[in-house]
Amino acid sequence: MSAERKILGEMMEKTILNGGTRGLNYEENLLWEKEHSDHPGVDLPPVKDFKSRTGLAERGTIGLPQCSEPQVVRHFVRLSTWNYSIDSGFFPLGSCTMKHNPRLNERMARLPGFAHVHPMQPQGTVQGALRVMYELQNILSELTGLPGVCLTPAAGAHGELAGLMTIRRAHELKGNTHKTVILTPDSSHGTNPATAAMCGFTLRVIPTRDTGRMTVAAFREALGDGKDVAGMMVTNPNTCGLFEREIIEIADLLHKAGGYFYCDGANFNALVGSIRPADFGVDVMHINLHKTFSTPHGGGGPGSGPICVTKELAPYMPVPVVVKDADGFHLETEEERPTTLGRMKGFQGQFGMHVRALSYILSHGADGLKQVSEDAVLNANYILSQLKDIYHVPFEGPCMHECLLTDKNQKDAGGSTIDVAKTLVEYGFHPMTVYFPLVVQGAMLIEPTETESKDSLDRFIAVMRWIAAESAAGRGAALHENPVSTPRRRLDEVKAAREPRLRWKA
Ligand SMILES: *Cc1c(COP(=O)(O)O)cnc(C)c1O
Repeated sequence: MSAERKILGEMMEKTILNGGTRGLNYEENLLWEKEHSDHPGVDLPPVKDFKSRTGLAERGTIGLPQCSEPQVVRHFVRLSTWNYSIDSGFFPLGSCTMKHNPRLNERMARLPGFAHVHPMQPQGTVQGALRVMYELQNILSELTGLPGVCLTPAAGAHGELAGLMTIRRAHELKGNTHKTVILTPDSSHGTNPATAAMCGFTLRVIPTRDTGRMTVAAFREALGDGKDVAGMMVTNPNTCGLFEREIIEIADLLHKAGGYFYCDGANFNALVGSIRPADFGVDVMHINLHKTFSTPHGGGGPGSGPICVTKELAPYMPVPVVVKDADGFHLETEEERPTTLGRMKGFQGQFGMHVRALSYILSHGADGLKQVSEDAVLNANYILSQLKDIYHVPFEGPCMHECLLTDKNQKDAGGSTIDVAKTLVEYGFHPMTVYFPLVVQGAMLIEPTETESKDSLDRFIAVMRWIAAESAAGRGAALHENPVSTPRRRLDEVKAAREPRLRWKA
């Protein structure tokens, strides 16, 4: 009997490895590795007197796995359950703004009149779709205080490129060839310096290390006489989750030197409905529709990064913009605006995202959008208030829509930032953004967004406090083992990056 038990036990383990389950936590191997991957999914009669014209058939089979339809469905559905999403739980990824995507937006985007339009259709047949874009342009203009809006950029980083190219075009046409420098704080998102470099600008960094904010003094120093300065790229609130308090004075100094203020608008969800970026001196700004206005992103869908610009810069931004005249709506052409920098994207941009964003905005209304930013800030400050006695807070005072902690108090006892992140995984949370911003050692950037309930925040806070308590009690080494219940444990990320295995079989 005991021999049979042993054999059966081994078989059970093997079954789990081969696409079985333990605790409904499915293991899933590659399609090629399925034990019976020789069952064709279709049953076609053999072709009589077949002669291949390409010669491919004579080469024999190419070794594709043969699976039945249910096998294929299960394979992909199981893999999909390994993908943590905002629909499965709290996703406090700082800077990324993982908020709930209301299903109403999805309903609107799937209306046949929107979902089935083709970009090559005559514009007279898609007036409703053009009106959606036109109204979104107007609303974004009102929310930012910037009158020119181009919806075409396909993501935040693409919006940055569109915005900086607009600035470059303006300087070009004004003959400012000596303006070759972009200023940016050391805490800026990596896409900012990357975009500036891609546009051929040189970077000069504004240090913020001590306070987490730009100061007028540090800005003056970076500006110098300002002759060579084309503009600055700043996120406000910045990537430490702090509002730049001296921004108006800084923007004035920049403008006096003939530079333009590019605002990375990824954090607009902290301000929307409360203040307009144009009022603190912004000339160009992108908006991540997929962050501020809740369209799905990450694995969930394409982004959309419209840019908003001042009246002065509007002639230079990309085409097309939707314009309205006596005949209705149409997409503007290069001929209608010869000073434009040109096109950034085929057709008109991510139309489905425009529908979702407009749906989000209209369903919230003006008062609702203001509450969105207020609640996002409230939620972040609630987390900060519940954790600041045990985790080190690098910059004192309240935060905006995300709070920044570090592992300074824990790391020597075990419980460094990476251990915190992996322990959160063990307890069913997506980790916060870790080791960013780069200027703060062991950074943990937590963004709850307005859509989280107090209950989910409290459970997250409890796990965070438990981690700190384990570390303080000398059990930090155990944290280093986490996660223990996931299909995969900690991966050797350095080895994976240095020695990637790019083939299924060596
Ligand atoms: C997300 C983000 C970006 C880039 O936006 P994408 O849509 O991911 O290209 C730029 N800056 C900041 C601060 C961001 O958080």
